[in-house]
Amino acid sequence: MDRVLVKMKHDRCAVFDGALPSNPGGIPMKKWKGTAMAPGFADGRAFIYTPNKLGEVQRLDVGKDGVDREIRRFEEAVALAEEELKVLKIRVLHELGESEAAIFDAHIMMLKDPDFTQRIHTGIAQACSNAEYAIHEELASVIEKLKAASLPYLRERTKDMADIEMRLLGHLKAPGQRGSPQLGRIPPDTVVVAKDLLPSDTFALNRDNVVAIITETGGRTSHASILCRALGIPKVSGIEEATETLQSGERVLVDAENATVVASPTGAYLSRFSNVQRQYQQRMKALRSRKMADCSTKDGIRIFLHANLGSTAELDIDQGHPIDGIGLFRSEYLFLQSRRRPTLEQHYRAYCAAAHRMKGKPLIIRTMDFGGDKYPSFFLQSSKRRELDNQRGLLYSLEEGHMLQTQLRAIIRAHQKYPGIEVMFPMVLDGEELQRATALVRTLAASEKAKGILSVGAMIETPSSVFEIDSILDHADFVSIGTNDLSQYMLAGDRELPGSNASADGLHPAILKAIHWVAQAAKQRNIRVSVCGEVAGEPALACLLVGMGIRHLSLNIGQAAVVSHYLRTQNLVDLENAAHAALMSKTLLNVRDAIQTIRQSVKEAEA
Ligand code: PEP
Ligand code: MG
Repeated sequence: MDRVLVKMKHDRCAVFDGALPSNPGGIPMKKWKGTAMAPGFADGRAFIYTPNKLGEVQRLDVGKDGVDREIRRFEEAVALAEEELKVLKIRVLHELGESEAAIFDAHIMMLKDPDFTQRIHTGIAQACSNAEYAIHEELASVIEKLKAASLPYLRERTKDMADIEMRLLGHLKAPGQRGSPQLGRIPPDTVVVAKDLLPSDTFALNRDNVVAIITETGGRTSHASILCRALGIPKVSGIEEATETLQSGERVLVDAENATVVASPTGAYLSRFSNVQRQYQQRMKALRSRKMADCSTKDGIRIFLHANLGSTAELDIDQGHPIDGIGLFRSEYLFLQSRRRPTLEQHYRAYCAAAHRMKGKPLIIRTMDFGGDKYPSFFLQSSKRRELDNQRGLLYSLEEGHMLQTQLRAIIRAHQKYPGIEVMFPMVLDGEELQRATALVRTLAASEKAKGILSVGAMIETPSSVFEIDSILDHADFVSIGTNDLSQYMLAGDRELPGSNASADGLHPAILKAIHWVAQAAKQRNIRVSVCGEVAGEPALACLLVGMGIRHLSLNIGQAAVVSHYLRTQNLVDLENAAHAALMSKTLLNVRDAIQTIRQSVKEAEA
């Protein structure tokens, strides 16, 4: 009998005498079970990614003989860094605009500056040191001078120097060593294997070449997972020690439907996998190629499907289903990689670009929501990170003031051109806070001499906002329930971790009751209410939400076709009955029964 390494979510790697034959190369097949984060199948080669971090840079004596080699290493690192910067520049130009992209030109100029090159050469030659040390010494001395400069503009340049150093040192690492090659330069058919990924890592990925992502940790509602679903990249998390056990270049099969990962597959396993993968692809193709009409239930109740979006690039993915607008534009994504606070002009251009794509349909811009797993680069080295851990969402924005005002002015200006734009505030705690924000919007609109009224909404995603819903509704034109954060704060879980309490998203009776409570309160006041957490994109849960009176779902764009397909098979009265049963539930298990009833009825309708 063949030996197969089996790795379960919370177990250590174990040898298993299973029925699977070993692969022709003699390397035992390894199999893991994790948690599915973004659907799909992939067959590719592993790339072990660990982000570059600037550790202690050591001085090595390379002797006189080593000087030429170190200079060559330096030159090669410069060439690789330049290539990488050019690729980044094109991407940022496309997604953010010219002025943001210009930063990469400045970095390239610095890298190619003859004085800089000469000083590194001299540093290596005089001290007979390794290239890393010469670079570090040179840039440390530039940084010291810049720090002492009187002009704030010059002092700001220290971050650029640190960035250049990190990039060069990254490229000086040995081939195959962690962090090299970087995410933007991965070869075709790559399965990225990482401890965890940040949303900014996901943005940096060469999306044409990545076929799947495997991480050791990371929850279903973590922003990197949300992005993967939007971009159609299969992802499995909870694969313990994946970065230690998998080898770069090893063949990996990812089944993100059943949350399994297999490395060095046997021939028999591979052929079974390829069959299942082909069937899945055919099913998805068929679903997406149906030219679907607007979403409604079987008995004709119109359900509005809006997209949750982090960048307009997500709109390029054809999901085969019309959307009714953007229900959550996560504006902070636009700026996570930005080295400076975005200017009014940058905000304005980003919102106009998204509104333009919507052709008059609604676009709800959520003001910046930093914190959790979203820290912009311009906060990285400052105490701001700690502040954000302690105070976030609308309260943070109101206290900080300047960034919020810049963003609101841009939204107000964009609204003049695109009246479908609305503004929404994250992590609202109570009515008084929303009142402050609404007053600020009105004051800024007056100073901008804006015409028309910009609608103001609140995200209901803190337990406090559920209890304070009445006072929030006093100041809101609409509300949107963010079940990702609501679940983690109500269920004492961490959305970044697989298998945490919060990953029961929306299934827990307490979350259902909170949604129902808010929906009822909004309905009584005739105020629009939507759900924009990831549950809105889970087809059976979306049906349950409709049964609870929700008519606006804002979901991951990749889920629109399947959610619409489910709803189309169901009559409202049946969904109301299922919702009633779920709301009466005292346990998670009972809620799951109600959801199972919906799934079963969809299956019967399909048969
Ligand atoms: C939420 O918390 O449910 C939500 C939609 O916002 P985000 O996922 O961006 O935190
Ligand atoms: Mg949230």
